[in-house]
Amino acid sequence: QSESPDATTTSVCGFCSTGCGLEIHLKEGRSVNLTPSTDWPVNLGMACPKGWEALNVLQSSDRATRPLRRGASGELEPTSWDEALHYFCQQMKGVQSRHGNDAVAFLSTGQIATEEMAFLGSLAKFGMGMQHGDGNTRQCMATAATAYKESFGFDAPPFSYADFEESDTLIFVGSNICIAHPILWERVLRNRHQPEIIAIDPRLTETAQAATSHLKIQPKSDLTLLYAVANYLIQKDWIDREFIAAHTNDFEPFAQHVQSYTIERAMELTGLSEQAIVELAEKIHRGQRVSFWWTMGVNQSHEGVRTAQAIINLALMTGNIGRPGTGANSITGQCNAMGSRLFSNTTNLLGGHSFTNEADRQKVAGILEIPIERIPTENSWAYDQIIEGIRQEKIKGLWVIATNPAHSWIHQNDLQEIFQKLDFLVVQDMYSNTETAQLADLVLPAAAWGEKEGTFINSERRYGLHKKVSPAPGEALADFQIFRAVADYWGCGEMFSKWTEPERVFETMQQLSEGQPCDISGIAGYAELDDRRGVQWPCATGETDRSVERRLFETGRFYHADEKAKFIFEDSRRPGETADDEFPFVLLTGRGAAAQWHTQTRTAKSSVLRKLYPNVLQVDLHPADAKALGIAPHELIHVESRRGIVQAHANLTAAVGRGQVFMPMHWDTVNQLTFAEFDPYSRQPSYKNAAVRLRRR
Ligand code: SF4
Repeated sequence: QSESPDATTTSVCGFCSTGCGLEIHLKEGRSVNLTPSTDWPVNLGMACPKGWEALNVLQSSDRATRPLRRGASGELEPTSWDEALHYFCQQMKGVQSRHGNDAVAFLSTGQIATEEMAFLGSLAKFGMGMQHGDGNTRQCMATAATAYKESFGFDAPPFSYADFEESDTLIFVGSNICIAHPILWERVLRNRHQPEIIAIDPRLTETAQAATSHLKIQPKSDLTLLYAVANYLIQKDWIDREFIAAHTNDFEPFAQHVQSYTIERAMELTGLSEQAIVELAEKIHRGQRVSFWWTMGVNQSHEGVRTAQAIINLALMTGNIGRPGTGANSITGQCNAMGSRLFSNTTNLLGGHSFTNEADRQKVAGILEIPIERIPTENSWAYDQIIEGIRQEKIKGLWVIATNPAHSWIHQNDLQEIFQKLDFLVVQDMYSNTETAQLADLVLPAAAWGEKEGTFINSERRYGLHKKVSPAPGEALADFQIFRAVADYWGCGEMFSKWTEPERVFETMQQLSEGQPCDISGIAGYAELDDRRGVQWPCATGETDRSVERRLFETGRFYHADEKAKFIFEDSRRPGETADDEFPFVLLTGRGAAAQWHTQTRTAKSSVLRKLYPNVLQVDLHPADAKALGIAPHELIHVESRRGIVQAHANLTAAVGRGQVFMPMHWDTVNQLTFAEFDPYSRQPSYKNAAVRLRRR
């Protein structure tokens, strides 16, 4: 009874990019419970298990509550904030004086507020003089961002969630939306048009099981399939020539390019029948409102950008964009992947600007009232290039914020060895026992979602406000406060004197966005975000449309200078590692369940979520392959790649094809097996392809 709430407030969820609204129940200003918001335009009263458990994971006993410094004994030992901040500055400045300003870098996250990202990126680059910093969004959304930028002229996912309900043909490519974005799948289930739902995936995923048809393609054959379908549509003249002529460039070279992608060629590589491929083309042709959706199956690929653009090309050539129920739609991953894409100041200058463009640098310098010379004139290295920079001892100091690369980065053993080359590793996190924090010289304890405020931007470009509803444990501070303190101890606090709280940074972000496609200058501050349950970008000054269903390109005008979209294409190529006699299976990795999140740093803390997920690492393999190898159900076996050996329990299921195995990414050992290959344009890792063999122990 004492915990009965006396008030409620709303907040946007801090796990995935769906951006569900949660009603937080308060007792004397502190959270005691939550329920999904019924009036939030995203989730309409629903939440997945992670959302329901969002408050409980804050209560864990292994929260970081004090700064920790590695002492003479080699152990992490408590220290004061004052000492920790002095030590941070002394060590980082020491690295810079020995090796140059660029010898320190940061690795950030899609999990903190947009305002915190903007503060970190500005502090690191303009205040501390770093050149290089990247985020873990490189592991999830870099491909989509690059593809959109090249094709549309700006990183602009065009859709609204209403499109799930308004489409008559939904095509999911490499997207297990049922468990990756369960509330968005609920939106699909609300579709009243009896839609065709097509899942293109090597596995019979939960989404493939629920779809009206499943194209069980061979791994890494999606680009060839998409080009063959494009070719077939062109041959049949099932394309929108009027839209192509009015709104796009380079269609004719594209049409020539795909001529060699015949149905026969696609059959050979994909393993699909002629009928399956032709039917896919026919369904796209018959659909009045066709929407294409993709996530990590496309993004995490050695040719992810061109695959995403092949999807974009299909939408453009059939005129399926800018109308309800259509679009080439990338569903982002983390709660604030979009914030990272627009405001992290890593590979883009704040607000979707460019470091290499002088006018952009002048604009940003003017708004921030800093000398233009403080702004780097080159883009940052991407994540993998920063790791390589550490290997080559060009980077000697690293600041890791709210991410866990020692678990999540591809080819894990290599990364853990590389980190030993650092002179100084700082980890800022809500837990002090992550795999990366255990390697750190200094751990800065951070407040979590629910213990601080700021905005996230969800997959449909909606800014949502999350609020402080619980105190942070011990001496943990909001990331925003940590950046504020670092700025002051570093000696550049004056540069950010106006950034006293997140909403002040939001106001600066509004100024920075003015005139950009992502313009949010018309939003009336946090109050409007709160009142309206979020606002989608763009929302320029004077914009009066606040409907919950706003999509891009309704006028057919894209963001390139000539306002046309581009057909971009390139020949498909095989990945750098393929199955062979020695390692005859292809390892696919991915999300294992709706109840777990990434490296489980938060979700494993919930007893409810743990019960909803196997407590042992499993490897899915086909029963016929298991029989051939004499592997029994649930047997503990060795999964071995050229990079490592992992033990896992055999889960026999025909959901995976012969010659393929699947392992969930949530377990700390899986990336010992993965093969470090990257898309050349987005530099996103290709997590879903490694050659492995299976052995009985
Ligand atoms: Fe949170 Fe995503 Fe679950 Fe919604 S679907 S409750 S945003 S984790």
